[in-house]
Amino acid sequence: MISLKNVHKSYVTGSNSLHVLKGIDLEIETGEFVSIMGSSGSGKSTLLNILGILDNYDEGAYYLNGSLVKDMSEKKAAKLRNEMVGFVFQSFNLISFKNAMENVALPLYYQGVNRKKRNKIALEYLDKVGLLDWADHLPNEMSGGQKQRVAIARSLISQPKIIFADEPTGALDTTTSYEVMEILKEINAGGITVILVTHEHDIAAMTQKIVRLKDGRIDQIIKNGDLKHFQHQYAKELETA
Ligand code: ADP
Ligand code: MG
Repeated sequence: MISLKNVHKSYVTGSNSLHVLKGIDLEIETGEFVSIMGSSGSGKSTLLNILGILDNYDEGAYYLNGSLVKDMSEKKAAKLRNEMVGFVFQSFNLISFKNAMENVALPLYYQGVNRKKRNKIALEYLDKVGLLDWADHLPNEMSGGQKQRVAIARSLISQPKIIFADEPTGALDTTTSYEVMEILKEINAGGITVILVTHEHDIAAMTQKIVRLKDGRIDQIIKNGDLKHFQHQYAKELETA
């Protein structure tokens, strides 16, 4: 579903250039539950934004579902995003003056679905994340975990094939983080590919495949069974850091 070959990305500001991704090769199959892990500034969000067609890359090739994603017009990129992907962010990105149902319905509003129909569908998705009773509450009346569940429902409403989540638990306490991870796990069990970014080892350990970024390169890919080795090595690194 996702194939990256030697992808490079630099940020240029004025006369400065920062080489953030230095040759990323990565394959992700349909239905995988993947975390991209690395320390702050290692390029995780940059990589996720490229995968989600929110940003361009400079060199290499990115194939999404067999088609090359490169130098796309904004119109074509927007079409692919609408058809394929949903996003979840650390800061939830909910609209403060709209209630939970209206926030979830928002993608359908942009698709021109009438109010009655989109609100009805939004309630179904709120129900999926256990928040049917909170439909008419505003974001500031909800806990962080509830807000993230609203954001997840919103990301699902356009029936994406892939969910990209950038530090989805970054603003949450441990218990709430695990609840949000459980929901992402359920979504994945329903057949949607989930790719999340985290700097937290505990969160990464809940996914099936951990892609470790270090200095703009993939340092290590750890699959399910191999987590022990990973934890051991990671602990050793922390000791010597
Ligand atoms: P992470 O998500 O792993 O913390 P990022 O991908 O956000 O890392 O950032 C990687 C590096 O690129 C950082 O040094 C960051 O300051 C820099 N960076 C990120 N976005 C931009 C941007 N739009 N312009 C310039 N530099 C950026
Ligand atoms: Mg980031």
